[in-house]
Amino acid sequence: MQVQQVQEQRVSVLGVGIHPLSEADALSRVTAWHDAKEGRYIATVNAEIVMRAQVDMQLAEALRQADLVLPDGAGVVWAGQVLGTPFPERVAGIDFMTALIARAAARQERVYFLGGKPGVAQTAAEKLRQSVPGLVVAGVRDGYFQDDETESIVATIRESGARYLFVGLGAPKQECWACARRASLPGVTAVCVGGSFDVLAGHLRRAPLWMQRHRLEWLYRVYKQPSRWKRMAVLPQFIYAVRREAKRRNNRRGG
Ligand code: UDP
Repeated sequence: MQVQQVQEQRVSVLGVGIHPLSEADALSRVTAWHDAKEGRYIATVNAEIVMRAQVDMQLAEALRQADLVLPDGAGVVWAGQVLGTPFPERVAGIDFMTALIARAAARQERVYFLGGKPGVAQTAAEKLRQSVPGLVVAGVRDGYFQDDETESIVATIRESGARYLFVGLGAPKQECWACARRASLPGVTAVCVGGSFDVLAGHLRRAPLWMQRHRLEWLYRVYKQPSRWKRMAVLPQFIYAVRREAKRRNNRRGG
C-alpha cells in the first residue's frame, strides 16, 4: 500500500514526499522561518523510514504534515536517480543538525536536546559546547519518558527559550512526537535526528568518510550494531519496489 497524498514541491519516493533540496538550501529555508510564530518540524528520511511509512499510517501522515522532509540516506538518493527525479545531494540528519547548531550559536539562538538514553544528550551537549563557541544548550532530556510526562516536557522546552529542538527518539516515535507537539511549541523548529546524540556524545562512531562517499554508511552501522540486521531486511524490498515503480513510470511515459 502506498501513501497517496504528496504535497507539492516534493519528490515522491514510494509515496513519501521528500524535498529535493541541498543542505545549503534546506538551511536557508529553515533560517528564513526565523520570525515565524508557528512551530515547525523537519523529518530526515532513509529507506527504512520510507518502507515503514508504507504500513504505518500514523508515520505516513506525520511525514506528509512535516514542514520539511530531507533525503537522509544513500537509498533515498539512489531512488531519486532511478525514478528520474534526482535529489541534489544526501542531507544526513547529523550533518544538518551540526550545521544548524553552528548557525544557532552564531545568532545566539538556543537549542534543546530531547532523546537518547539518560546522560547521552547531556554528554553530547557538553562536547558541543567545547567545540562550538557561543552555543547555548537551553536544556536536555533523555528519550525514555512516560506519555503523561510529555506535557511537562513540552512546557519546559517552551519556557527554555529554545528556537531549535533536536528530537532523537528513533523512528517513528520522533516524527509522530514532533508532529503532534509542533502546535504547542510556537517559534520552535523541531528536527528529528535519530541516533545523532549517541554519535555526538562519542558513544557511537560514524562510518569513515570513504564509506559514506561509497554509500556504505548503513553497512558500517550494521557492523557496529549487529542488532540492526533485522531492520535492514526491508532494504531489498525497498530496492525492488523502487525498480518496479521506475518501470511503471517509464511505461507510462512510453505509452
Ligand atoms: N530512543 C529514545 N527513546 C525511545 C527509543 C529510542 O530516546 O523510546 C533513542 C535511542 O536511545 C537512540 C535513538 O533513539 O539514541 C535511536 O534511533 P534510531 O536507531 O531509530 O536512529 P538511527 O540510528 O536510525 O538514526
